[in-house]
Amino acid sequence: MRSESSGRSEHISPKYTVKGLFNGGFGRNFDAKSDALQRSPLERFIPMNHQELQFGPFSVSLLETCRFGLDGGAMFGVVPKTLWERAYASADERNRIPMAAKVLLVRAHGRTILVDTGNCPWMSPKLREIYDICFDDHSISGSLARAGVDAAQVTDVVLTHLHFDHVGGAMLETGEPRFPNAAYHVQKRQLDWARAATEKDRASFMPEMFEPLVGSGRMNIVDGDGELFPGMYLECVHGHTQSMQTVRLSDGQTTVFFPADLMPTSAHISVPYGMAYDNFPLTTIDEKKRLLPRIIDEQWIVVFEHDALRDAGRIVRTDRGVALGEEFVLCR
Ligand SMILES: [Zn+2]
Repeated sequence: MRSESSGRSEHISPKYTVKGLFNGGFGRNFDAKSDALQRSPLERFIPMNHQELQFGPFSVSLLETCRFGLDGGAMFGVVPKTLWERAYASADERNRIPMAAKVLLVRAHGRTILVDTGNCPWMSPKLREIYDICFDDHSISGSLARAGVDAAQVTDVVLTHLHFDHVGGAMLETGEPRFPNAAYHVQKRQLDWARAATEKDRASFMPEMFEPLVGSGRMNIVDGDGELFPGMYLECVHGHTQSMQTVRLSDGQTTVFFPADLMPTSAHISVPYGMAYDNFPLTTIDEKKRLLPRIIDEQWIVVFEHDALRDAGRIVRTDRGVALGEEFVLCR
């Protein structure tokens, strides 16, 4: 990884590649979440308790920043509604399904690190209405306070990509960084892509949510895969958008994986369950097929950033493809 701005290059190790091809037969079938249909469409799911995962140097939990709703058809691409409603949740009268925007909180090596920042609290009322964005039960400031984290203590913010539901909480309405002492890490090719967005994903990029960060000098523009801090790996995938960086934390035994919009919910772990939002759907399929064998064999704990019903879980093979195994409640 190459760093364009000063600061963190001393931590950064050379590129490496994830090895291993998957040749298993992921069919179109997905082991449905048996209780997904029992939930009302936009039920506010409040976890009964939470766990803070601790392993190696890492302490990891999840923060809720809001609930929102996206068109269920767009979230599941070519998968028929009868199947995705069974795999995830029923749609509301406008065909929206319940979504969350969760932020990973990582404490390690004396640093306080956030991955993504959720939706934008100062978004226009019109857009909030379209996406049914609701801050009644959750907000980034409220969740940080509950976790005992002051904005000034945050040392690093990893932005997986610059879609508004990931970068929306990065800044205050005043144009100042929400985390005044943090370095914000973004991929160079994602920034380039966002600045010349295509007709397909132009609506997902709102320059007012990230350009002032670049101007402030707080954006650490990195280029390619690498180890940001010991045991914290940033690895790019390109099917959803150019150079979306996933985050993998590992102490050599336990691995927590934050795939962002490669697997936005637990219903997207199956290879064919891709989003219509993806710029390059076949690339998404290749990326899932490449990663799933390691995720399964090494028992990674996968965090689902947008899942309104589930926080994280391991993935297991079944005779029909893959399914969610052991689940973890990580939200505070
Ligand atoms: Zn996205």
